[in-house]
This record gives sequence, structure tokens and C-alpha cells, in this order.
Amino acid sequence: MRTAWIIASGTELILGQSRDTNSAWIAAQLAAAGVRCARMCVVGDDLAALRDVLSTAAAAADVVVLTGGLGPTDDDLTRQALADVSGDALVCDEASLAQIRAFFEARGRQMPEQNVVQALRPSRGEALPNPVGTAPGIVMPLGRATCFALPGVPIEMREMFAAGVAPRLRGAQEGPVLLSRRLNSYGLTEADVGQRLHDLMRRGRNPEVGTTAEMSIIGVRINALAETVEAAERMLNEAEAAVRQRLGGAVFGTGDDTLAHALCRRLWERGETVAVAESCTGGLIGKLITDVPGSSRCFVGGVVAYANSVKEEWLDVPRELIQRHGAVSEPVAEIMSRQVRERMNATYGLSATGIAGPQSDSSGKPVGLVYLGLATADGAAARTIRLGDSPREMVRTRAAQAALGLLLRRLEPL
Ligand code: ATP
Ligand code: MG
Repeated sequence: MRTAWIIASGTELILGQSRDTNSAWIAAQLAAAGVRCARMCVVGDDLAALRDVLSTAAAAADVVVLTGGLGPTDDDLTRQALADVSGDALVCDEASLAQIRAFFEARGRQMPEQNVVQALRPSRGEALPNPVGTAPGIVMPLGRATCFALPGVPIEMREMFAAGVAPRLRGAQEGPVLLSRRLNSYGLTEADVGQRLHDLMRRGRNPEVGTTAEMSIIGVRINALAETVEAAERMLNEAEAAVRQRLGGAVFGTGDDTLAHALCRRLWERGETVAVAESCTGGLIGKLITDVPGSSRCFVGGVVAYANSVKEEWLDVPRELIQRHGAVSEPVAEIMSRQVRERMNATYGLSATGIAGPQSDSSGKPVGLVYLGLATADGAAARTIRLGDSPREMVRTRAAQAALGLLLRRLEPL
């Protein structure tokens, strides 16, 4: 399989002020076009560093993809680095210059003189059209590689890749392709998933199966390497069927599907609704559900009942119950779910009350102790979950996920 190096440039990236999301996107696209990413490098807006990594990459890979540094300012050094490493002179690409001028004119503005540099390219380079911004990209031979220079702005980078890079890579394809797919599961531990899939996950196997864990969701990633796209798809289908069979109802979706998506789909199918009463999650359960387009068809609303007075007044939690058991307790979670279900006239009520940390409350209950309530037409029940002394954001996110999971599992048992 052909190999690629990806080079992202930007001082903000190496200072940790913004994230290099472009490289991950590019790597996945390359794989689908039959090119396996062998290395990702991130450098600052620094000519020496850029030259250095570029000349190494050009000697090591079949394809080099650069992102960033094509802007009109002095810290945009990609063109210069390409010229330096190739030994080419920078020349003005007249067609690009005309396009950049037209871009400004179409917006009723004169092109600033500074933007002229965006039409420069090394003499052996070729301009890659930019469907959504000003600056063109560049494609050129460099060492043993074909080198593509793309913008840093993610939307511009993606459009240019799709229009100018992917077709060239596919056109030149003779070797195998790497396709991937992701299944998402909830309700099993990563170790449990690993055990059920252990023969599929053997190292060196093709398709390659691996797991990733994030906030209680265990993802199963399948990578298939094959001579043709059709053969790779077939391998993915077979592996997916095997994984689903081993994990059963724990698999709730594929790709970017969230637990909330899966829950909304179930509720839509059943024509049912949910309302939420949240203490420690502060609205996060409602947020996760309403992140799903179309959630208005199943989400009625929620109460963020943070102070005890709000639990008492809005959810009729008896004061003496809170005094006896504490606001973080099973009976309080249970009543919260029952009340919100009734008052909002929903099929289900979900609630969460817990200790998000970093300190406990006056009760001294441990950080990470969370009670979830689920109310249905048959009554309400609470469940205790212990998330350990984790960072506050982790406790809250996992508690909210667990609440969604609690209802999903009720609708669709494992
Ligand atoms: P361009 O070639 O499009 O002008 P640039 O590097 O000159 O790119 P910058 O002004 O540095 O552009 O960055 C534009 C935006 O794109 C910034 O918000 C920056 O954080 C973002 N960006 C740059 N590189 C990446 C990357 N690798 N991943 C995600 N975002 C990025
Ligand atoms: Mg930059």
C-alpha cells in the first residue's frame, strides 16, 4: 500500500492553543483512497522546521499532505518551504491570481496587494483550485513523493481535498485500499468486549479489529485491507456481523452515532417521550438528547433542580425526605423521576442526583456517587452508580450517559 506523511503547520497547534483535527480527517480520507498514513507531524510556523520535516517526508513517503501556512501573511511559509526543498523558483500562477482578484471583486472589494503572494507556486507545482476560499493549494512532485499543500482552515482543506486530492490519488491507484467502520456499544466493559472478540482482535489479522473506550462507550473499530473497494466492503460486512453477534444488544449504533441518537430512535419508533429532572448533571442529559436533530419528537423538557428548594417546590420532593436521606439518595432520585414524568406528561421520567466533586457535600458521601431515577407507567425506581473519585466533568458526563443508557436498556434489553 502507498504510504503518506501528513504535516500540519501552525504555531497555535504546537502551543496547544488549538487542536490539529485536520490530520485525523486527512488520514481517514487517505486510507479510503488506498494510501496508509505512516506518520503525522505537527510543526510551528517556522521555515527551518518545515523544510526539515518536508525533506524527510519527501524521501520517506509516496504522498505528503501539508495543511496550513498558505495564508497571505508573513507566518505563512508553506510555499517558501516547498520552493526551498525542491530548489524551484517561486513563480506567479496567473490563473490563480485572476481567481483571487475575482474572489475579492465578487465581494465588492479590491484585492489587497498582500494577497498576491497566494498566487505564487514553485515552478514545477500546479495550483489546486479552492472551491470555498481565496488561496489555491499546490500539488507538486517532491523527492519520491507527490506533495499536496492544503489550507489550514478545516472547511477549505476538506473541500480542496475532496475536489483536488482524492480524485488524483484514486486515479493513480493500483494497490490495495484500507476501509474502516466503527460500531458503538454500551453496557459492557472494554475488557468484556475484548474477551468476546478476542479471536477477531488477534494482532496481524485482516480485517483488524480494535476497541476504544470513551465515557462509557466502547467503540469497536474494524479496518479491512483489500485489493479492491468491493472486497474491503465485503470483509467489513462479515466482520461487522460477527461483532454484532458477539456483542448482541450492546451495539447501539455505528460511526458517529451517540447513545442519545439510539435512544431517540427507539422512542420515535415507539411514539414515546421522555422528560428529565437533573441535579448533578445540570442539564447535560437534556443537552445530549437535544443534540440529536429531531429530538423534539421525543423530548418534552427538563428541570434543572440544583438547590433543594427547587427539588421541593418544582418536583414535590418532601423536605423531610431530603433531611432524612440527603438530596443525593435513592428516594430523592426516584421521586424526581416520577414527578417530572407526571408534571410534563411524558412516557418516561429520568433523573440524576449525585456528587460531582471535587468536594463532597455536607453529607460526606463520596465523589462519584450518583443515583439515577427512571419512572414509567409501572412506577419509579432508582439505581446507584459509583463513578469513583474522577474529575468533575467525567462524573457528570458519565452520569448523564448512564441515565440515557438506563432508559435505552429498559426499551431494548441486552
Ligand atoms: P491557510 O492556508 O488556510 O491560510 P493558515 O495556516 O494560513 O491556513 P491560519 O490562519 O493559521 O491559516 O489558520 C486558520 C484557521 O484554521 C485557524 O482557526 C486554525 O486554528 C485552523 N487550523 C489550522 N490548521 C489546523 C489543523 N491542522 N487542524 C484544525 N484546524 C486548523
Ligand atoms: Mg497557520
